[in-house]
Amino acid sequence: MIKNFKEYQEKKNKLFEYNKFYYDKNSPKIDDATYDRLKKQLIFYEKTNQISEKEKKVSDTIGFSPSKKFSKVKHAESMLSLENAFDQEDIFEFYKKINNYLNFKSSHREELFAEPKIDGISASLKYVNGYLIQGLSRGDGQFGEDITENLRTIDDVPKRLKKFNSGELIVRGEVYIPKSEFKNISDKFANPRNAASGSLRQKNATNTAKIPLRFFAYGTIFMNHNLQSKQSKFLDFLKLEGFKINPLGIIIKDEKDLFANYTKIENKRSELDYDIDGIVYKVDNFKLQQRLGNLTNSPRWAIAHKFSAERGISKIKNIEIQVGRTGALTPVAKINPINIGGVIVSNATLHNEDEIERKDIRIGDTIVVQRAGDVIPQVVEVDKSKRDKSSKKFIFPKKCPCGFETIKEFNKLTKKYDAVRRCPDKGYECNLITKEKIKHYVSKDAMNIEGLGKKVVENFWDLNLVKLPHDIYKLNFEKISQLEGWGKISANNLKKSINKTKKISLEKFIYSLGIRHIGQENAKILAKFFQSIKIFKKLVFEKNNLFKDLLELDGIGETQINSLRNFFSNNTNKKVFEELIKNLSILDFIIQSKGKFINKTFMFTGGMEKMSRSEAKQIVENEGGKVLGSLSKKLDYLVAGDSKPTLKKINQAKDLGTKILKEKDWYKLINF
Ligand code: NAD
Repeated sequence: MIKNFKEYQEKKNKLFEYNKFYYDKNSPKIDDATYDRLKKQLIFYEKTNQISEKEKKVSDTIGFSPSKKFSKVKHAESMLSLENAFDQEDIFEFYKKINNYLNFKSSHREELFAEPKIDGISASLKYVNGYLIQGLSRGDGQFGEDITENLRTIDDVPKRLKKFNSGELIVRGEVYIPKSEFKNISDKFANPRNAASGSLRQKNATNTAKIPLRFFAYGTIFMNHNLQSKQSKFLDFLKLEGFKINPLGIIIKDEKDLFANYTKIENKRSELDYDIDGIVYKVDNFKLQQRLGNLTNSPRWAIAHKFSAERGISKIKNIEIQVGRTGALTPVAKINPINIGGVIVSNATLHNEDEIERKDIRIGDTIVVQRAGDVIPQVVEVDKSKRDKSSKKFIFPKKCPCGFETIKEFNKLTKKYDAVRRCPDKGYECNLITKEKIKHYVSKDAMNIEGLGKKVVENFWDLNLVKLPHDIYKLNFEKISQLEGWGKISANNLKKSINKTKKISLEKFIYSLGIRHIGQENAKILAKFFQSIKIFKKLVFEKNNLFKDLLELDGIGETQINSLRNFFSNNTNKKVFEELIKNLSILDFIIQSKGKFINKTFMFTGGMEKMSRSEAKQIVENEGGKVLGSLSKKLDYLVAGDSKPTLKKINQAKDLGTKILKEKDWYKLINF
């Protein structure tokens, strides 16, 4: 919900920025679902508030202004977007609007033509006396980019029509990239639509020619309606003139037909060699189309019935076991590649042994796969009716692929055994875990060694160049420069980025070690506590009480302490730690020296009305103070929220002479 005009403007500017990245630069900054939600909020705000004429509205915007790379040409008739229907109710609403507008009986069902909605980019082709003379992109709907030469490189775009040889004809359609071809360039683009747009809108058309783009023709403008009486007939005409027409178009008599076709095409979606994201319904009769006309952004006579973006159907080819950095064995389904919401998915997680058992998932099964945002796709359900009779239950291996017998840990809290099986490796014994630990060590949030990504780690591992994290510091760059795919420059760049990261903060270093339960947040808490690598070394190498002291740190509990203890009781881990610190220059944790709570400690009890515990904690830390997890003489303030503070704590604090702040005193102290 957008609260005020300022928020509206801020969010709108963001949306326009996203448009630029999506339509112009072909590299979306956010996923489509998030984009759609933001757009919906903005349009709702525009509908429910008075917006000045001068203001550029989201509801009036289509696509993005033509790029300066190309000359700008006005479309003969605007190229619009389409209204979306997400469920059956939206479809009935569409029928209702048509009937109301045309004053038909409410039970009337006008014939529609249903076509798959091709997920590419639209183009408009102008033929004069049968010859292609101009090709435009949609641009902002009013003005398109002149990409004639680029469109000419596409085989499916006729340069000369077969019969039509006098007068003007405008043909609109979608340029797309087949899924089988997208595979080859998927590293450069987020999805096939961006790939098609990026390849088509190249300044130099010879670069477009290198990409096997295709074109489906699907429409024209009102001016050409005199050529045929219906959309369905017009498509037949285009076919005869040499265009490629999508073969799945069909006439829809009523909603029964419509929903049946929707389900049929959605099920077929994964088998098609091109990306579709829904079905477009168009009033088949051209005269009625013309009467219905257009809204600002979309025609009244058409609607796009979107597929649920995140699901698709595929088949499990195999189930493989992946071992993570912390030893967890995760079953992963290798599936027939399928496009889900524009992304090719070929792996889906099956979570753990219990999940496979519960859903009875087997190799060869037909499954529904779901992708939500950037999380790993997952198997939702199995279509047992399609199961091969001879299929057998999947037996989850009891051993890690490295050979160790796996274990299931007992969870004291739930009093149950964990669902996850783990390899009991204690320190660099399991090759699979070691590889993952090296990948973690070099990763962005850890040491952030550019040019040493997952693939390079795998490659160096296979070549025996890096078998433990500190081997990175022994690399021979002369030798690397001679490896396949490397050269002097890239080897030198790698050397530079390794050297550059040798100076590292204590918190990043602790996080880089990849100790279970010590994520970025806990690494920071530890770094703040130890302050220097010199003191941290005491925890690693000396018998002391430091582990016990950690208990008083907020965020660090027995789980973390046990994990640290286990990690540093292993000699290989100690050795790796020692080798790493020899190569690095680890910076002391910088204690904030300014702020009103410097050297002050706080503890909170009870809930507060105006802020969460996390926010209160953050305020203390921002002002240089420390939040303690337990009561002690060191505590300066106990803040007692109005909602259910622990009396025992208050009494103890009183005994210790700690200052006790009521909720309202706390707000006063921080000027809230
Ligand atoms: P749209 O793609 O949803 O629908 C209109 C288009 O459908 C037409 O221009 C045409 O090209 C196409 N189409 C395909 N097959 C057709 C057929 N058979 N008949 C008629 N038209 C057909 O509209 P849009 O406004 O261009 O794009 C909105 C989409 O782009 C949304 O899904 C949105 O999420 C995405 N988007 C994402 C970002 C981001 O940053 N992630 C930014 C902008 C837009």
